[in-house]
Amino acid sequence: MPRQFEDELDHLKQQALLRRLREIESQPGTAMTYAGRKLINFSSNDYLGLAGEAFLREAAKLAIDEYGVGATASRLVCGTISPHVALEKRLAEFKQTEAALTFSSGYATSLGTLSALAAKGDVIILDKLAHASLIDGARLSGATLRVFPHNQVDKLENHLQWARDAHPGARVVVVIESVYSMDGDRAPLAEIVEVKDRYGALLLVDEAHALGVVGPNGRGLAHRLGLADRVEIQMGTLSKAVGVAGGYIVGKQALIEWLINRARSFVYSTAPPPALAAAATAAINFLDSPAGETRRHQLWDNLKVLAAGLPPGLTPDRLQSAIVPVMIGDETAALAASRMFYDAGFFVPAIRYPTVARGTARLRLTLSASHYAEEIQAVTHALWELDKRDV
Ligand SMILES: *Cc1c(COP(=O)(O)O)cnc(C)c1O
Repeated sequence: MPRQFEDELDHLKQQALLRRLREIESQPGTAMTYAGRKLINFSSNDYLGLAGEAFLREAAKLAIDEYGVGATASRLVCGTISPHVALEKRLAEFKQTEAALTFSSGYATSLGTLSALAAKGDVIILDKLAHASLIDGARLSGATLRVFPHNQVDKLENHLQWARDAHPGARVVVVIESVYSMDGDRAPLAEIVEVKDRYGALLLVDEAHALGVVGPNGRGLAHRLGLADRVEIQMGTLSKAVGVAGGYIVGKQALIEWLINRARSFVYSTAPPPALAAAATAAINFLDSPAGETRRHQLWDNLKVLAAGLPPGLTPDRLQSAIVPVMIGDETAALAASRMFYDAGFFVPAIRYPTVARGTARLRLTLSASHYAEEIQAVTHALWELDKRDV
C-alpha cells in the first residue's frame, strides 16, 4: 500500500477525525455489549425497538423458509418476488399514495432517485444539512446544484427565482429532510411546500428520521401537517424506526414507473433478500396498528423524560424528534465527552467532520421506545456532569 494512506491516516488522527469500527457483541436493543462491557445504547436509529422484535424475526424466518435467502437477480430480471410486491403494496397503502418502490438501502434510494429525476440543464436545490446520500445523488444527476442555508425558506426562494430566470423551462427539484439526522430538528414544511408550488418546482422530502416517529401511526411529517399530497417525491428508509434495511419512494404511479426504468441503483443491483421485505411488511403492519401507536407514544413519553432532565444551553430548547444533539464544537473535546459517557456506562457517539461541519462536533443521543425511564434519567445526570466540566 502506498505510504500516502498512512500519512493521511496519521493526519486524520492528529485532527481527532480518525474513525474506527466497533464490534458490537449483542443483539439490537438498549442494552449493548462492546469490548466485553455492558453499556446502555443511546446511538441507534431503532427508535421503536423493532430490530430485535420476535414478530420481525418470525416474519423473516418464514420468508426464508418459503423463498430462500438470496433474491438471485435484479428486480427487473427475476428478482421481484412476492414479498417485494407485498411490501410495496403495503407501503403505498400506509402512505396513501398510488405506488411505492423499494431499494436495497436508503443510500441507494437517494442515488437512484435524484439521478433519475434530474439531468444536465435541470436544477436541484438542497438544504445545507441534507444527508450525504442526497448530495451524492444530486451530484450524480449532472444537474446544476444550489444549496440554501438550513431551513431558510427566503433563501430557498431566492434560488427558485434564480432557477426560473437563469434556466427557463428546466426541471427544478427541491430536496429536504423532514427531520434532520444530525440536528434532530424539523423542516418548515408548510412554507417550503407553499414556495415550491409557487415556482412550479418538485419537492423531495426524505422522512428517514420521521417515519415511525412523527405523525399519525408514524406516517411522517408530511402526513402530520396534512401536506403529503403536495410532496411529489416522498422518501424514507426501512433501516431506522422500521428496524430492517432498505429505502423507499412513494408517490404517483408514473413517478414509480419512471424510477423502475431509470433509477440505476434499482435497475443494476440484485434485489434485496425477500426475507427483509417480509420483515419490513410486518413492521409497517405494526406501525399501522394500535400497538404501534402505543409504542410510538412510549418513545415520546421517553423524550419528555429526557427533555425534563436536560441541562439548559447544551441541547435544543424543544425536542422535535428522537435525535438530541449535544453541541460541543471542538472535535477532540467531543471525543473526550463521548469517552466520559462510555466510562459511565453509556454509548453516546461523537459526531464529527465530515458528517457535520468542522468545529461543530457534537454528541448525538438517540432515544428509543425501549429505554427505561431510569436509564434516561441516568444519562441526563451524566449530561449535567459534562456541563459542569464546561467542555
Ligand atoms: C440514514 C439515512 C439515509 C440512508 O439510509 P440507509 O438505509 O441507512 O442507507 C438516507 N437519508 C437520511 C436522511 C438518512 O438519515
